[in-house]
Amino acid sequence: MQSFIEALIPSSALAETGLVVVNPATLAVLAHVYDYSTEEVEDIIAKADRARSQWSDLTAKERCRVLMVWRDLVMDHQEQLAQLMTAECGKPVAESMGEVLYGASFIEWFAEEGKRVYGDIIPSHSQGKQALVLKQPIGTTAAITPWNFPLAMITRKAAPALAAGCSMVVKPAEATPLTALALEYLAHQAGIPRDIFRVVTTTRPAEIGSALCASPIVRKLSFTGSTAVGRTLMRQSSDTVKKLSLELGGNAPFIVFDDADIDAAVEGAIVSKYRNAGQTCVCVNRFLIQESIASDFLAKLTARVSAMVVGKGTDEGVAIGPLINAAALDKVERLVGDAVSNGAKLCTGGHRVTASDGYFYAPTVITGVTRDMALFREEIFGPVAAIITFKDEAEAIALANDTEYGLAAYFYTQNLGRSWRVMQQLEYGMVGVNEGLISTEVAPFGGIKQSGLGREGSKYGIDEYIEMKYCLVGGLVGSAH
Ligand code: ADP
Repeated sequence: MQSFIEALIPSSALAETGLVVVNPATLAVLAHVYDYSTEEVEDIIAKADRARSQWSDLTAKERCRVLMVWRDLVMDHQEQLAQLMTAECGKPVAESMGEVLYGASFIEWFAEEGKRVYGDIIPSHSQGKQALVLKQPIGTTAAITPWNFPLAMITRKAAPALAAGCSMVVKPAEATPLTALALEYLAHQAGIPRDIFRVVTTTRPAEIGSALCASPIVRKLSFTGSTAVGRTLMRQSSDTVKKLSLELGGNAPFIVFDDADIDAAVEGAIVSKYRNAGQTCVCVNRFLIQESIASDFLAKLTARVSAMVVGKGTDEGVAIGPLINAAALDKVERLVGDAVSNGAKLCTGGHRVTASDGYFYAPTVITGVTRDMALFREEIFGPVAAIITFKDEAEAIALANDTEYGLAAYFYTQNLGRSWRVMQQLEYGMVGVNEGLISTEVAPFGGIKQSGLGREGSKYGIDEYIEMKYCLVGGLVGSAH
């Protein structure tokens, strides 16, 4: 057993059999973790509900103090958590270190925001009556999280829930339960009561997902993952009319206009496309490049991409780690194969890397992509830059918006009027203008169209865990004598 697993995961969370955790860079088995049954999860939900008042009765400041200890413990263990994350999800250690910091920033942010959940006193509409709005924690909540940000996608949900006074049960992805268990361990060490924050690991995500949706006790479900699963959860939550936050798939366009700073655009393209080997929901999916500058952009991008080092996330200088599993590798191969057979041209990459046992795919640039190719429509989730050219601004906008998704979009231009026009016309929840990296705890993260519901992070993120209660107090007429 690796020392970072022993240090951060209680032996009670591990099991002889159960859910197998595999390193995607080596295919070595890292650990087996406990496989919770539906009945056990229902019991944990009931306990989370019964325990709730011991947490919600605290003042926001008292909860803030405990959350800040959790944040400090996470940062004290940054190196070990990063090693753990790289071992189970494959991203380079430098990226994992960054994710720990990013994940901790949500705890800090919401610990503070919890103190600013103000209600309202509404100017009276009638003598002797006073209308007010109370803000109260929604109650017992649940989260289902993905493997691509095994730490930050949990803190982005759990921190606002806990800060608001809710309890939360988290079901992490099957590929990355260890980081989730480590976070749970540190939360309990920090003083968050055991029943208030629980992680349930399982080999049966659909069963446990159904149980979370069907439970009338769970008042809110927050999900990050694919649009297909999001739709299922939405359907399953209808019987209990559950409040939902859904962070689903994306098909991000990255538009480079002829008046852009090309070097800056290439830089933005690299961070936006190849981070986590292209496995983030805000990663660029389609590069839309104005015809007159396409060859310049393509030459510069291809030079940078072909120099990227592929390998284990623990090796020095590696930019591209493995994909998460064999299915991910198959999907990328299928998308690229389909594009090439329909006339697209590879500039670099376009194949698996078989030097070791892991799920590696070469960083790829492919040009001549068209609207009818699967690469244009489907979320790639791999290190493949699909290049499409356009003639003018109107065509760029039309191409960019030609998708059911609406999560993140990016564009590069130095023209102020164009910046404003394009910003307004892009049908996306988040837009980077001359910026390829937009995620931060201070800003609202989320999508429109079929990319989801609700926002995470920022001053808006805590509203997802709050109920508004309108009270009208009458009988206030009278005299003091
Ligand atoms: P990806 O394709 O990126 O793995 P998924 O949407 O399949 O994305 O997974 C995101 C999360 O959803 C994971 O925690 C996974 O276990 C969970 N999940 C997958 N299928 C279901 C389901 N039918 N019901 C509930 N959760 C599910």
